[in-house]
Amino acid sequence: MPIDATQPYDPNNVFAKILRGEIPCNKVFEDEWALAFHDIAPQAPVHVLVIPTGAYVSWDDFSARASAEEIAGFVRAVGHVAREQGLVEPGYRLLANLGADGGQEVPHLHVHLFGGAPLGRMIAR
Ligand code: AMP
Repeated sequence: MPIDATQPYDPNNVFAKILRGEIPCNKVFEDEWALAFHDIAPQAPVHVLVIPTGAYVSWDDFSARASAEEIAGFVRAVGHVAREQGLVEPGYRLLANLGADGGQEVPHLHVHLFGGAPLGRMIAR
């Protein structure tokens, strides 16, 4: 079920629980600003989620409220993970879903990092 991205942050969402270590994840990277782990239901040979360590519902919330340090740290982490996964030379796709029309299901900002094969059309028809 897509979420309403205008709601306040829910500290009991699944990615908040992963950040607190209450449920496991298949981690690929972690620093002060971001955590990256394999998506539990991969839609490409490489499908990694990168999330900020701060409590932000969506890209909208993050871009409006996060500090310059948090934004820089998060963006650098996404780039770092893509390089570490060997995706720069073959190419990759970033995706951030937001709210109902975007099909966002988890109310903690996450960027999907897809790669490992040609990814087809940008948007399904
Ligand atoms: P979105 O539709 O953009 O909100 O995507 C949510 C993503 O989170 C989906 O691709 C799910 O497969 C993924 N997901 C949900 N729960 C977990 C989990 N516990 N560990 C890893 N990925 C998850």
